[in-house]
Amino acid sequence: MQVVTAKTAGFCFGVRRAVETCYDQSSKAQGKVYTYGPIIHNEMVVRDLEARGISVIRSKQELEELKEGTVIIRSHGVEKEICDLIGKQGLKMVDATCPFVKKIHKIVREKSEEGFQIVVIGSREHPEVEGICGWSVTPVTVIENEQQASAFVRENDKPLCIVSQTTFNSKKFDKLVEILHLLRYDRDCILNTICNATEERQKEAAELAGKADVMIVIGGKNSSNTQKLFEICKEKCSQTYYIQTLADLDLSLLPSVGYVGITAGASTPYNLIEEVSKQCRK
Ligand code: SF4
Repeated sequence: MQVVTAKTAGFCFGVRRAVETCYDQSSKAQGKVYTYGPIIHNEMVVRDLEARGISVIRSKQELEELKEGTVIIRSHGVEKEICDLIGKQGLKMVDATCPFVKKIHKIVREKSEEGFQIVVIGSREHPEVEGICGWSVTPVTVIENEQQASAFVRENDKPLCIVSQTTFNSKKFDKLVEILHLLRYDRDCILNTICNATEERQKEAAELAGKADVMIVIGGKNSSNTQKLFEICKEKCSQTYYIQTLADLDLSLLPSVGYVGITAGASTPYNLIEEVSKQCRK
């Protein structure tokens, strides 16, 4: 049996940077340290950080109750309102928002101020999308599927500024833009802000799944980029399994001969990917 791990499996640049920021703050920050939301969709990492004194704030109300300490913003970013609140409460903010997400905040801020109608292609419930919407000075439309794109109505004669959640599927993005483009308007500004890390991971996963007899996708159950990877792999390889930890790996499902492909979402630590790979080879 051949076991091949995708080169792009695991932490991307932005997630690695955010996790390293936490470990760095756990040793040097004065006073209590918090992350606004779990730093990544990985329970093992979140528990390890808790053991090092970093707690998770889960809501705006919890933030409003804090009187001191350091708040780390995760790679997904947050609404402007949250940054302002941290300042107002007299807390220290350490911003680990991924620079690629920060760039979208800037675009949305500027374009909304210039009078563009902002459209975000992505999942409304995703924290990154909530954060992006929170930088616009005008209401934002979030479009996730073809039905919503077809039902979209342009506000008066406003030009559109279309951006994407960084982890959105690039093919779906093109399709939704195509539908919105039926309402073509010369001054529209269409920006594919899907991060390369996601595209490359998705592309490599599809290639690997196309060759594999069994495909294993590793990642937290709440990780949207892992869920998307799973969808992509499942299309190419019917025997695709989604696991969160080594304990979820059912070795009886692996072929005795053939090809096993492994990929992992952006929040999956390298050591877990290694453990799964080793276990498959046994
Ligand atoms: S997927 Fe891309 S945009 Fe998102 S955190 Fe990673 S590097 Fe940043």
